[in-house]
Amino acid sequence: MSLGGLLRRLTYYLGAFHKRRLFHQGLRESLATDRWTTAEIRAYHDRRLTELVRDAAAHIPFYRDLYARAGVDVAAFRGVDDLPRLPTISKADLLEHGPRMVRPGVSELRIVRHTTGGSTGTIAALASPRGIASFENGCIFALWSRIGVRRGDRIVTLRGALLDGGRRLYERDRLENRLTISTYHLKDDTVAEIVRLIDDYRPKWLHVYPSALTLLANILQRIGRRLASTPQGILCGSEAVYPWQIELFRNVFGCRVYSHYGHGELALLGGWCEGTTAFHFLPNHGFLELLDADGRPITAPDQTGELTGTGYLNRVMPLIRYRTADHGAWDAPGPCPACGREHQRLARIDGRGQEYLVLRDGTRFPLTSINALHGTFFAHIYRFQFVQDEPGRATLRIVPAVELTPPRMAEIRAAFAYLGPLGLDLDIQPVPDIPLTRAGKQRIVVTSEDLARA
Ligand SMILES: [Zn+2]
Repeated sequence: MSLGGLLRRLTYYLGAFHKRRLFHQGLRESLATDRWTTAEIRAYHDRRLTELVRDAAAHIPFYRDLYARAGVDVAAFRGVDDLPRLPTISKADLLEHGPRMVRPGVSELRIVRHTTGGSTGTIAALASPRGIASFENGCIFALWSRIGVRRGDRIVTLRGALLDGGRRLYERDRLENRLTISTYHLKDDTVAEIVRLIDDYRPKWLHVYPSALTLLANILQRIGRRLASTPQGILCGSEAVYPWQIELFRNVFGCRVYSHYGHGELALLGGWCEGTTAFHFLPNHGFLELLDADGRPITAPDQTGELTGTGYLNRVMPLIRYRTADHGAWDAPGPCPACGREHQRLARIDGRGQEYLVLRDGTRFPLTSINALHGTFFAHIYRFQFVQDEPGRATLRIVPAVELTPPRMAEIRAAFAYLGPLGLDLDIQPVPDIPLTRAGKQRIVVTSEDLARA
């Protein structure tokens, strides 16, 4: 081997070693928080928030100016109780001030640059310390371990993205015991190959984008096929998972479903526990606030607010009081009745971003409430998407998987008939395709303007 080749290999192994170390650190730190009491968690947040805010105000131009303009006395900042004094930030700030949010003087070699926001249609550039993804993976693994995922378990990842620019259907990572399959072009004629890949690999877990697995589940249900062996569970990530999807997955794959919430900005991470579908947020990852439309903190359970996160992982480009555009509601106060953890907990997270329909009277109807999408509807289509430009009226676009005969169309109409009395007139329109975002996710509600841009 040439010296250059040797050096490249050495760099690769050093990189792999570094990643593995960060993964274990993320895993270990996250698991340790399981036993923390409310008082310990509170003290931890007070300490981390104070360090973070003072450091950002001292070293990062964007925060220095932001807090100076808002008249914030950073020296008096003591933690959780003082957070509401700080201005919030949003994706618009990432777009407008991104470069000034990055810590000056950090070597490019220590930074990874990536983009986020595919699911909302706005792409923002982010900078993070090298290796942050491995640490985050360790945190996610801690969540997964709640339902029995162990190191070395075989995992098949199904996602809608193109692999290698669309030239490859799958990628195998032997080090991680993982097979990634692209469902980007999943149709009836490619499903046999994908099922064969999964059957040959015999995964213990399916790690999925819910929209990608929905596509596969629809086809399997329609052609009456099942996987050769039942996985132990389905691990959902990257998109909201709706109740109708959980039911569909349980029916088609015959196993339990688990979900976690995270995002590309890495400010917050939370997941279901052993016994409930409430999202338990890892304290070592970040601090969660729920804010109403006027930016006031929400403390009561069952009142919907915007998830606003302050992340502890990214010291290169810290996000402090970052409004995620995702909405949810607190669970009942006190420790989780199912597992006893004292983490911050959301009872539910509604559709990401704009994922709701607006009824005639202006009511937002979250798509978590769509409960009629069972059975025959899925059997007839590949994908669906709502287009809404005005309250009380929407178009449901569907990509048919079978010929839509009048009786089948009637079935689909009947499945949505309940929306009329609620205040929504619905047109149903078959279309040849519904494009995914660049990250391979699918948005469920868009406007005509979004479509024109796509
Ligand atoms: Zn719990």
